[in-house]
Amino acid sequence: MLLMVDSTDLRGALAWGKDFLKKAGIDSPELTAQLLLCHLTEHDRTELLLHLEESLSEAHWREFNQLVQKRASGFPLQYLLGECGFYDVTLKVTPGVFVPRPETEILVEEVLDFLKGKEEAFVLDLGTGSGAIAIALAKNLPDSRIVATDISLEALRVARRNAVENNVDDRVFFHASDLFEVFKNEVELQNRFDAIVSNPPYIAFSEKETLPKEVRDFEPPEALFAEEEGLFFHRRIIESAPTYLKPGGLLALEVALGQAKKVMELLESESRFQEVRIREDLTGIKRVICSLRK
Ligand code: SAM
Ligand code: GLN
Repeated sequence: MLLMVDSTDLRGALAWGKDFLKKAGIDSPELTAQLLLCHLTEHDRTELLLHLEESLSEAHWREFNQLVQKRASGFPLQYLLGECGFYDVTLKVTPGVFVPRPETEILVEEVLDFLKGKEEAFVLDLGTGSGAIAIALAKNLPDSRIVATDISLEALRVARRNAVENNVDDRVFFHASDLFEVFKNEVELQNRFDAIVSNPPYIAFSEKETLPKEVRDFEPPEALFAEEEGLFFHRRIIESAPTYLKPGGLLALEVALGQAKKVMELLESESRFQEVRIREDLTGIKRVICSLRK
């Protein structure tokens, strides 16, 4: 449904985009329309708002129409923009890769807090996706080395590129692997990591229909869903992590609403862990579980 005008100014485009997105029930319609226009015109938001009288070329107008309609259909904004912010880094994201979430920044905070004073930390990030956690840690721990795994080759391709663009590619090492599988014959990696961190897939298949369509219909399912009511990966990580952590090392895991208690129980019944701790996110959900290797 292309609006029948050949060109317009930014003000007109913004008003049309906001209205279209609002009618489609999209959150933050005005901000979304602004960000899509910024993306096309290469203005930042301040410049955009200072130049509302500027006319939009016909090509940009058509592209803007398409972007707005795609967003209105549920396609995630971050995929349209091609990037997103996470902690203090900017990351490229493609439709094959999980979009980093703000609540995952708590995982990064917990690990950074734990590693304060350990400049040369050695960290493992399981299921790295766009590389969000690994790259944020590397950037904030300038002498650290981070190993990151994912089972998705597209995720690893994007993560490697993100590491290069954030100038940490000399200290972040990516491997295609099913969790720890690729390390199983690497004896020198046993008892070696100061911290192991993961935001694994954790949505129970039974929750699928309750997800926003942005997530359910557009993000890669292998990044979202897990068997065992969403705890398949947590259980496997808790079983194997003690082999690779140094004594006193940290395991930090993200969980969904309602999973904290079960993950704590899994940790408490694994005799090689102690001091299980929960951290809530900004909305009060028990979101991160930490424990120390004995
Ligand atoms: N760590 C990233 C973040 O927080 O933005 C991505 C998290 S996403 C929820 C989970 C990631 O785990 C996806 O990138 C997915 O491809 C990966 N994954 C799924 N199964 C895996 C497995 N068996 N081994 C390693 N990674 C896996
Ligand atoms: N927090 C994400 C969501 O609710 C899911 C992340 C995950 O499975 N690790 O969409």
